[in-house]
Amino acid sequence: MTDQGILKRTYLGIPMELPHVAFFELSSCEGCQLQIVNNEASLLDFLSLVNIVNFREAMTEQTDYYDIAFVEGSVTRADEIDRLNTIRKNAKILVAFGSCACFGGVNQLRNRFKDPIWVKKRVYGKYPIVTNDLAKPLDAFVNVDLRIYGCPVKKEEVEKIVTNIVIGKTVSHPKYPVCMECKANENVCLFDLGEPCLGPVTRGGRDSWCPNSRFGCWGCRGPAEDANVEQMQAIMREHGFS
Ligand code: SF4
Ligand code: SF4
Repeated sequence: MTDQGILKRTYLGIPMELPHVAFFELSSCEGCQLQIVNNEASLLDFLSLVNIVNFREAMTEQTDYYDIAFVEGSVTRADEIDRLNTIRKNAKILVAFGSCACFGGVNQLRNRFKDPIWVKKRVYGKYPIVTNDLAKPLDAFVNVDLRIYGCPVKKEEVEKIVTNIVIGKTVSHPKYPVCMECKANENVCLFDLGEPCLGPVTRGGRDSWCPNSRFGCWGCRGPAEDANVEQMQAIMREHGFS
């Protein structure tokens, strides 16, 4: 341990500083953070790469000194904007952690309704709480250095990305859609089984997790680059879906 309290280890004989890593949540179900805690098989290896200093789901200690901040959830309240700005100020690298943080995720479904008052009444009934009219992703307020997509994120992908950050390797996401991985995994296409799937237009990178288990893709990682939405609509119509 150094005088700053940063743990050290070596990689190929080269001393490496373990970054101080913090996890935070805004409006979210906390399912993305839970993926990390649940990761029993490789949790110890993961922990040997980083020095976790904030993680409310797993520890009580807290600090404002961290290098990498993983922020889960979208911004739906005014106080979350202040909190996010503080995290941005403290962190060298800010990671949007999960689809809520990357592009609003489940929370942004409410943005599609024209009347936010009606939405709040339907959701909160007699017990209203103060929320913004729209749910927004992190990059609507602060600069985001890196995005990890998924609802929830896939732990293996998080570990790979964190490892790359620690050893200073470029982090890149696949540009191809889920179908590429699904075909490589030799799955029977769900359309052939009479079920809809958004794999043709959804960003890959998760080894076609849902279609592998015979669940159609719901598009939780957002659109693939150059997603051909018109063709997707044609495929849906062809198979009798709206
Ligand atoms: S992306 Fe999904 S799993 Fe993660 S916090 Fe949002 S709703 Fe929960
Ligand atoms: S099941 Fe979905 S992801 Fe797999 S090939 Fe068919 S459309 Fe693509």
